[in-house]
Amino acid sequence: AGSPAAEQIAAIDAHAAHNYHPLDVVIARGDGAWVTDVDGRRYLDCLAAYSAVNFGHGHPDLLEAAHAQLDRLTLTSRAFHHDRMAEFVTELAALAGKDMVVPMNTGAEAVETAIKVARKHAHEVRGISTPEIVVASGNFHGRTTTIVSFSDDPVARDGYGPFTPGFVTVPYGDADALAAALTDSTAAVLLESIQGEAGVVVPPPDYFTRVRALTAERGVLLIADEIQSGLGRTGDTFAIDHDGVEPDLYLLGKALGGGIVPVSAVVGNADVLGVLTPGTHGSTFGGNPLAAAVATAVVRLLRTGEYQERSRVLGARLHAGLRGLVGSGVTAVRGRGLWAGVDIDPAVGTARDVALRLMERGVLAKDTHTRTLRLAPPLVITHDEVEWLLTQLKASLHA
Ligand code: PLP
Repeated sequence: AGSPAAEQIAAIDAHAAHNYHPLDVVIARGDGAWVTDVDGRRYLDCLAAYSAVNFGHGHPDLLEAAHAQLDRLTLTSRAFHHDRMAEFVTELAALAGKDMVVPMNTGAEAVETAIKVARKHAHEVRGISTPEIVVASGNFHGRTTTIVSFSDDPVARDGYGPFTPGFVTVPYGDADALAAALTDSTAAVLLESIQGEAGVVVPPPDYFTRVRALTAERGVLLIADEIQSGLGRTGDTFAIDHDGVEPDLYLLGKALGGGIVPVSAVVGNADVLGVLTPGTHGSTFGGNPLAAAVATAVVRLLRTGEYQERSRVLGARLHAGLRGLVGSGVTAVRGRGLWAGVDIDPAVGTARDVALRLMERGVLAKDTHTRTLRLAPPLVITHDEVEWLLTQLKASLHA
């Protein structure tokens, strides 16, 4: 419907700032793992909005929760209680095995909230005058000025100074380097359980066990950014579950909003989140009734374990197929569950070249850092669709 795709793209180019470089497709509808463009062409969505659409486009339970809530009540602010909050915070806290939730909207806000909590906890509980937060090389935690202050990606960072101090960077996956970086001023260690934007980088098997032991020994908070890796994507509720490690704070976002509304959260225990007292932090839209209703429905989907199981089983098939492409246009494959970083052999082109060829074949995927193609289909993808995706990818690995 509406004007042809080219006209719409020209208008978007003219009037939306150029802080993205999208593929030339204009999507008009979504259904499960599939989307349809304005010209009626269908594509398998293998990005799932960077894992915000883990449950697929238009999941009936999530749509029902949203529709029902839209008709009743959408916003009160936190100046008053509303009747969708109790179930949301109770059920989300229980899913994470924690006491408390700080409801926010975007992932970056959850990260900012955790940084503020970690600093306040260091000042008030541990008596640290200048708290430091240890982060990892290659991290991606969002786009605010403080968050880009501890990015080491020049594209994300350059030109945005002056930067927020108080961060120390260590190589991701290196527990010895982390041990050496911890000081009496360390408030927290902030890590992605698997690094998404870096190219789906999975740390060594004993990494988080060691990080947990090191932080626990010193009373340093461990903050797991599960905004992209969490909520079923890797075959577990949280990617860090795989390591049997419990962080002090979970950062959640993306899929928590069911692909319908932005919902994020910091989840932890009262001994840490208790540093937040009235007036010291907030958000007009955080935990609003519509967000709470949708996120509660998301938590209920995750409680069944069905999506984690799908990601485990279908992810094993996806990764077996991808490993079979190594040496034939693919140089390496990383990831877990229905999440993969596929390094493209430069001889067959860039990852974006492959993404463009895939688009011609009805698959939408996204490159990251020139060489890596990222695959993260909705967890409702079927076995046959995984096979079809592998066939299309194989056919796209020719210059
Ligand atoms: N943290 C991680 C690990 C992410 O992948 C992202 C987004 O890609 C964010 C934080 C920021 O989330 P948002 O874009 O909702 O601010």
